Amino acid sequence: MISSMKEGRREFVVTANPEILIKAERERDLQKLLLDESVLIVPDGISVVRGLQINGYPAKERITGVDLCERLLAAAGGGAMSVYLLGAKEEIAAALAEKLKADYPEMTVNYHNGYDGDKDEIFEEIKAIKPDLILVALGVPAQERLIYKHIGDFDKGVFIGVGGSFDTLSGFKKRAPNFFIRTNTEWLYRIAREPSRLKRFYENNVKFIRYT
Ligand code: UDP
Repeated sequence: MISSMKEGRREFVVTANPEILIKAERERDLQKLLLDESVLIVPDGISVVRGLQINGYPAKERITGVDLCERLLAAAGGGAMSVYLLGAKEEIAAALAEKLKADYPEMTVNYHNGYDGDKDEIFEEIKAIKPDLILVALGVPAQERLIYKHIGDFDKGVFIGVGGSFDTLSGFKKRAPNFFIRTNTEWLYRIAREPSRLKRFYENNVKFIRYT
């Protein structure tokens, strides 16, 4: 990922969580996207890691959107690259853009919130800017669909759908304490903080277990 960014290659990274994997069973376009050999898939969630291991794949650990964002942004900042943030509420996207400009003065940062405007038109703007890193935080699987629709028009750029990462990276929402991250129970913390997530968790993560 970092080498693609530095060497000016085009890459689409999907952090595959149970939600997108379950949806892909019924939705053919998602299936096509996940099976596309040019798409790099990383396991996002302990159940995905365990599922891979049970089926003989050497997966080691989960890789979340926030972790990837932090690493890629640090690399982009160090290399004076150009980053585009698409998604989240206006105040959150704006705050994250400001924070990145302060943390990495040599990095170019452009952004658009995830609620106003036509997403295809926003992508036309991104095409003109030609950023090195494009983080799309619109939630699964809308962000992946949008990237897949447009990525063919780019010559370079690392694209990742990063869910709610802007909310935490901007400092608006707290990420789970380290204990939860270390013990792979971040999901428990998120449900405790936002009980409305429970239904979504059941529909995706609990039902996913029978697939492993
Ligand atoms: N979002 C957005 N536009 C929309 C719907 C959602 O920008 O029309 C953003 C929302 O503000 C949040 C992210 O998409 O920042 C989705 O976050 P969520 O925590 O649901 O994603 P997860 O990390 O659980 O996949």
